[in-house]
Amino acid sequence: MTVGNVVGLVGWRGMVGSVLIERMLAEGDFKLIEPVFFSTSNAGAIAPVAAGGGRLQDAHDTALLKQCDIIITAQGGDYTASMFPKLRATGWDGHWIDAASTLRMQDEAVIILDPVNLPVIRKALSAGGRNWIGGNCTVSCMLMGVGALFKAGLVEWMTSMTYQAASGGGAQHMRELLTQFGSLHAEVRQLLNDPKSAILEIDRLILAKQLSLPPAETGNFGVPLGGSLIPWIDKDLGNGVSREEWKGGAETNKILGQGAAFGTPAVPVDGFCVRVGAMRCHSQALLFKLKKDVPTADIEAMIAADNQWVQVVPNDRESSMRELTPVAVTRRLGIPVGRLRKMAMGPEYVGAFTIGDQLLWGAAEPLRRMLRILLEH
Ligand code: NAP
Repeated sequence: MTVGNVVGLVGWRGMVGSVLIERMLAEGDFKLIEPVFFSTSNAGAIAPVAAGGGRLQDAHDTALLKQCDIIITAQGGDYTASMFPKLRATGWDGHWIDAASTLRMQDEAVIILDPVNLPVIRKALSAGGRNWIGGNCTVSCMLMGVGALFKAGLVEWMTSMTYQAASGGGAQHMRELLTQFGSLHAEVRQLLNDPKSAILEIDRLILAKQLSLPPAETGNFGVPLGGSLIPWIDKDLGNGVSREEWKGGAETNKILGQGAAFGTPAVPVDGFCVRVGAMRCHSQALLFKLKKDVPTADIEAMIAADNQWVQVVPNDRESSMRELTPVAVTRRLGIPVGRLRKMAMGPEYVGAFTIGDQLLWGAAEPLRRMLRILLEH
């Protein structure tokens, strides 16, 4: 069955959307489609010229959306919650590709990460699937790195302690972090210029500034992030678990096609998700309890062979500092996995540290690859 090539793009101006457009241009995707650009805030303005131009259409107009064979949205969960049911209610049976979490756990939605779960995607496509949802960014980057261990059935359980970048919250969050850094630096600029100034005075002024940042500089994160961290991401589920942490277990299993919905046991995945003052890239320290003792060299070989983007980083100081940081990974599709070693708890306990540019594999890349899968179907 052929899928038409009129593709509606919603949310292309945001953090995920702009990276998506950049990647689509780089891969020549626009040569294969007839793009229609939508906006929730600026209908009538000029659409991105490099990607085809035209006028921006109203993203709330179901009659216009209905004319698309495929809609890709990175507009956010509120938009999906409001427009998706309305559009389906009109009888539209096109393909909906979405970066937001709203529909992810619905039975008729597939979480797309084709290097990991192409068979799950193909099966759903053959069965008439129409809803393709990008996974949580941290989960997708983790599975691109260490998916091999899950696929081999080696994992008894895994914990993930995350260090997630400001850009995970979107464009406004990135701006806010930089504004905070600027305010903090301005507060002590003169003292910094004087090598003899007292460090405790600098420290005191920075804390005072962090505590008194105006609402305009903390509105997105709620509290200062510059020079600090926030050990809670997304909603409070009311049971001591953040929604971001819950996604780790729920989505990992759904992507792998396992768990109650598939009639198989789920692998427990849990941990703490923490926002740090990095610009891009989500980093995570992982601890696996394997079902058996596997030599570290074999684990490294399995991980390295899993897909063309994963890179095993030697577990030494120099390599880790050079290759295993957000700065080293930003804007790259490669997913380094390093710090691989047996932990003190026993030979089945394996530690690892991995980083992914969450705007690429954690968001834009699976969406554009799903578009390609549909166009080639
Ligand atoms: P975002 O940067 O806040 O963009 C969302 C929308 O906000 C834009 O499409 C734009 O809509 C509007 N907007 C308002 N002010 C803007 C500004 N100054 N610059 C750019 N856009 C602005 O959100 P996002 O991070 O891309 O996230 C979009 C969806 O992807 C969310 O559901 C999110 O959960 C999901 N996601 C995000 C990430 C990530 O790492 N950020 C990863 C995976 C999934 P209009 O042009 O219509 O006004």
